[in-house]
Amino acid sequence: MFVLLRQLHRVLRQAGLPRRSDIRSLALRHIDAGSCNACEHELTAASAPSYDLQRFGLDIVASPRHADALLVTGAVTTRMAVALCRAYEAMPEPRLVVALGDCALGCGVLASADELAAPLDELFPVDIRVPGCPPPPDAIAAAILARL
Ligand code: SF4
Repeated sequence: MFVLLRQLHRVLRQAGLPRRSDIRSLALRHIDAGSCNACEHELTAASAPSYDLQRFGLDIVASPRHADALLVTGAVTTRMAVALCRAYEAMPEPRLVVALGDCALGCGVLASADELAAPLDELFPVDIRVPGCPPPPDAIAAAILARL
C-alpha cells in the first residue's frame, strides 16, 4: 500500500498536477429567495460541462451546515426571509454570502415588489456581488473564483 502511494505521488509530481495543499475549494448552498428562475438557469449552466465549476473546487451542497458560502438568487420575499436567516445561522464560521443577480443586489426588476422583506445586504453582509439580469455563467464563475 505504501509503495503504491509513493508511486502515485511520483506520477502526480511528474504530471505537474497541483499539490493537495495548493487545491482550494468552496462549498455553496444555493437558495432561491424569490427569483424569476433565469438566474438559476445560468447557475445550472455554470455547473454544466462547458464551464464545469467543480473542476475549480466549487460545489453546490444540499445543507447549509456543509457550506462555506450562501449563494442567494432573487429578491428576498417575506416568505423566504425566515428560511434564509435560518440557513445563514446554520452555516459554520467563517461564512460568505454571494448575491447572484440584480434582484439579490436589490436593484433588479423585482426589487420594488410589495412582498419583499428587505434587500439582501440589509439582512447579511454580502461578500461577493455578481451583477446582471441574469449574470452569464462566465461572470458567475469569475466573481466566485476571484474570492478563492
Ligand atoms: S436578476 Fe433578472 S434574471 Fe435574476 S431573478 Fe432578477 S429578474 Fe430574474
